[in-house]
Amino acid sequence: MQRTGSIAIYLADYYHARMETASSSSQDILRDVFGYTAFRGEQQAIIDKLLEGENALVLMPTGGGKSLCYQIPALLLDGVSIVVSPLIALMQDQVSALQQLGVSAGCLHSGLSEDEERSTLQQLRGGGLKLIYMAPERLLNPGMLNNLHNLPVALIAIDEAHCVSQWGHDFRPEYTRLTELVEHFPEVPRIALTATAEQHTREDIRKHLRLETAPEFIASFDRPNITYRITERSGYKQALLTFLRQQHAGDAGIVYCLSRRKTDQTAEWLSQQGFEALPYHAGMSGAERAANQRAFINNEGIIMVATIAFGMGIDKPNVRFVAHLDLPKSLEGYYQETGRAGRDGLPASAWMMWGLQDVLTLRRFISESQASDAVRRIEHAKLDAMIGLCETPTCRRQTLLNYFDEQLPEPCGNCDRCLEPVETFDGTELAQKALSCVYRTGQTFGMSHVIDVLLGKETEKTLRFDHQQLSTFGIGDDRSAKAWRRIFRQLINKGYLFANQERFGALQLTAAAKPVLTGLANVLLMSEPKRLPKAGAAKTVELPPDYDPELFERLKQLRLQLAREQNIPPYLIFHDGALRQMAALKPASHAELLSISGVGQVKLENYGELFLQSIHTHRQAAAT
Ligand code: ADP
Ligand code: ZN
Repeated sequence: MQRTGSIAIYLADYYHARMETASSSSQDILRDVFGYTAFRGEQQAIIDKLLEGENALVLMPTGGGKSLCYQIPALLLDGVSIVVSPLIALMQDQVSALQQLGVSAGCLHSGLSEDEERSTLQQLRGGGLKLIYMAPERLLNPGMLNNLHNLPVALIAIDEAHCVSQWGHDFRPEYTRLTELVEHFPEVPRIALTATAEQHTREDIRKHLRLETAPEFIASFDRPNITYRITERSGYKQALLTFLRQQHAGDAGIVYCLSRRKTDQTAEWLSQQGFEALPYHAGMSGAERAANQRAFINNEGIIMVATIAFGMGIDKPNVRFVAHLDLPKSLEGYYQETGRAGRDGLPASAWMMWGLQDVLTLRRFISESQASDAVRRIEHAKLDAMIGLCETPTCRRQTLLNYFDEQLPEPCGNCDRCLEPVETFDGTELAQKALSCVYRTGQTFGMSHVIDVLLGKETEKTLRFDHQQLSTFGIGDDRSAKAWRRIFRQLINKGYLFANQERFGALQLTAAAKPVLTGLANVLLMSEPKRLPKAGAAKTVELPPDYDPELFERLKQLRLQLAREQNIPPYLIFHDGALRQMAALKPASHAELLSISGVGQVKLENYGELFLQSIHTHRQAAAT
C-alpha cells in the first residue's frame, strides 16, 4: 500500500464503518485508534464526564496522558472540538500525531503558509475537522468566532490551563480572555488541563474559565519511571562523562547549565568527547535556537546543552535523561525540568550535581534583585527547600512529593538514597571540633586553612599566624581532609556556618552554632553513601521485557527513515516503547503486531508490513 495519502482514505473508511455499526465506545477508540489496551488512572472517568456534557478540571503530571482525555470525546461527539494551546510547537506536534493516527485534525497559527492556512480553514468550515488547535488570540478573533458559530462545536479543551494564572511562571495575558470564549459557547462542555497543581493557579483557572463547580481530577504527581540522583560536585566533567557513557550511551537527553558560557563550553566539550551535543540559550539568534531544537526533536540521540530557556513546548517522549550541572532555584523548577525525561514511561534519569558555590551564587542573585523583601523571602525559602532535597538522608521521591503535598507511604526504591543508603549519626562532637576551630582561628579563614589546623598540618599559613599554638591544632587528625570537607559542607548547609563571599569565603559562626558549642543542641551528620547490590532497584518501574537490542536498533533505523520521508519526528511513527516490545515479542503477523501497545488500525495499515518485514529479515539473518 502507498504510504502517503493512504491515511485520509483509511480514516474515512474507519469512520464510515463506525457510523454504520452505530455507536462505538471510548474503549473501542482507545484500542482501534490509539492502539492501547487500558485507560490510565482517571482517563475513563474524565471522558465519561465530558460525554455526559459536563465540565472537568484535570491535574496530571507531564506524561500522565492528558491529551487522550479530550481527544477520545472529540472523536465520539458530533462536531468539531476546539483545543486551546499556547505554543505553535505543541499544536504542531499534537496535530501531526493525530494525523498519524488517521484523525482529521488541524491547527491555525502564524507559522503556516497561506496555502496551508486556506486549506485548514476550508476543512474547518466544511465540517471536515474533528479537532482544531489554536492560540487564544486567534480563536477570539471575530472572524473565527463567526466560523465556529456556524458549526456544531462539540467540546472546548484548554491545554496548559495554568497559563491563565499570574502565579505560574508561564503566564500569558491572552489566556485570561478565554472567559469570552466561555460566554460565546456556554453550553459546550469544557475541560481545562495542566501539570501545575499549585493552589492559587487552580483557583485562577476555575475563575477565568468559569469552572467553579467543575469536578476536579487530580492524578498522583509521582513519575515512577524517573530515577533521581543528586551528588555534590567535585569537578563535573568526569562525573558527567561517566554518567553518559555508562548509563545513557546513544540516548537523547538535556543537560541544564546556569550560564550561557558554561552551556556553550559544555556543548563543545561533549562534542569533542564524541557525543552529538548542541547548545541552546537566550544569547543565540532565534534561527540558531530553532535549528538546534528541530535537530533535537527530529533525530535520535542528540544531547541538548541548555539554560532553562529550553524545554517549554518540547513534547519529545524519549528524552532519556535530564542532567543538571548547577543547582536549580526551586523544587518547582527542578520538578518541571526533570519532568521532561521519560514522558513515554520507559526508565529515565534525573541526575544532578551541585556545589556550595551554587548556593552562594543563587543567594547573591536573590539579595541583589530588585524584588520586594517579601518576594525575596519567598525565594530564599524556595532555595532552602531545594537544598533540603539535596541534603536529605532519606528517599528523594518522598521528599519531593511531600513538598507538593503528596505522601508516598514507602521509600521508592528508585532514587540514589534508596539504592545507596546513607546513615545518619550523632556528629555533635565533630561539629564542636569544627565550629570551635573556626572560632579560634578568628572567623577570617576559608575551609582549607581551618581543615589544615584541625589536621595539625604545619603549613606556611599556620606558621605565619601561629595557629599551631591553638588548642584546636591537630584535634581532628583522626580523619582525612576529604572527610572534614564533607562535615564542613553539611554544617554550612544546615546553617551552623556561613561562608562569607565578601571575605573570600571566610567561615563565620551563625547564631545556631552557639547551642552546639555549649552542648545544648545535637547535630546529625550523614555518613558516606553505601552502594547496595543493584537487585532491589527500580521496584516501582515496570521494565520492558527483555528485548533484542540489535533488532531494536534496526527498527529505529526504519522509523527514522520513514520519519525523514514525511519530515516529522520519529516518535510520531512509533514510540520507543512500541519498538522495544516489537524487539522483544518479534511479531510475525498483523494480529500479533496489533497486540503491541501503540499500534492502532491506521498505523498497522500504514507501517505494519514494513515493520513485519524488517523483523522477519532480522530473524532470518540471526538464524543463518
Ligand atoms: P501529557 O499531555 O499528560 O504530558 P500525553 O497525553 O502526551 O501526556 O501522554 C503521554 C504518553 O502516554 C503519550 O505517548 C500517550 O500516547 C501515552 N498514553 C496516554 N494514555 C495512555 C494509555 N491509556 N495507555 C497507554 N499509553 C497512554
Ligand atoms: Zn527513593
